[in-house]
Amino acid sequence: RPRVLSGIQPTADSFHLGNYLGAVRQWVAMQETHEAFYCVVDLHAITVNPAPEELRRRTRIAAAQLFAVGLDPERCTVFVQSHVREHTELAWMLSCQTGMGEAARMTQFKDKAAKYGESAAGVGLFTYPILMAADILLYQADQVPVGVDQKQHLELTRDLAQRFNSRFGQTFKVPNPYILKEVEKITDLQEPTAKMSKSSSSPQGILDVLEQPGPLRKKVMRAVTDTGTEVLADEENKPGVTNLLRIQSALSGTPIPELEARYAGQGYGTFKKDVAELVVDTFTPIRERTEKLLADEAELDKLLAAGAERAREVARETMAEVRERMGFLPTS
Ligand code: ATP
Ligand code: MG
Repeated sequence: RPRVLSGIQPTADSFHLGNYLGAVRQWVAMQETHEAFYCVVDLHAITVNPAPEELRRRTRIAAAQLFAVGLDPERCTVFVQSHVREHTELAWMLSCQTGMGEAARMTQFKDKAAKYGESAAGVGLFTYPILMAADILLYQADQVPVGVDQKQHLELTRDLAQRFNSRFGQTFKVPNPYILKEVEKITDLQEPTAKMSKSSSSPQGILDVLEQPGPLRKKVMRAVTDTGTEVLADEENKPGVTNLLRIQSALSGTPIPELEARYAGQGYGTFKKDVAELVVDTFTPIRERTEKLLADEAELDKLLAAGAERAREVARETMAEVRERMGFLPTS
């Protein structure tokens, strides 16, 4: 079976609809067809300096949500990144294979650093994509299901794999991004050209999986739509309506042209109400299962310990080869 690896940051108290449609829903499907490794990337989350209590809480919430959406510990490996020490070890080795200029081209760093001012931003934020490359290459992943915002980081990962292989001999599988066009970028409800994001969307712009039905409905009803009254997909002129159509289509499995026909001549009201109900119906069972999982921390931690054990086996094997190829002396 081909391998798959992906990760999500514990940078908020919930995942949002973009994480769900753009990434995590594919993870669930791929556990049936792939040998799958999914991690809560807590080492990535510390690039924005969370308080220790916050990191702990969010890491457990993220893990619980992954199980709640349907990842099954019998069918895939779910673990916490920092539990497998090899991630940081390989990241260092790969950082010595990465050019400053190459790293400086990453647009996500530029976007995120702009918030702090480029020189105030942490070095960890800058080297983030190299740690991400390590996450992927350690597991010899064939495919990496992500949103389109990660495409450039995947390209860097491929470059690093190829460079390492040509310099030290065939060691890493060169991974492919797995990006579903229709859901590659779910946008902010208030700013429909910007990506919905845990760390930069306003509360009104984001639909959190763990949110209550009341606020979810309100936010969809107040989502920025566009001038005119027609429910039509038109990226250029109607980004808000287009985003809602994509959401409805992805959640219901109904093609967009069929939705356009259904709402012809009806204005935005009924359409938005239907989108809101779909979101609520999708999120409610996930929220309820997440709450149950979080009620038993010991059991949750046990699931994560078992996942880490399985992940470590693969990671150790790759690292042994990396060390040997680079010329490090054997340990014992
Ligand atoms: P942060 O703002 O902290 O970076 P995020 O919302 O970008 O949070 P991540 O944990 O960085 O979430 O990303 C997890 C996965 O979700 C990645 O595969 C990413 O590409 C995907 N993703 C994030 N936002 C969206 C979105 N708006 N549409 C589609 N996919 C998304
Ligand atoms: Mg992100």
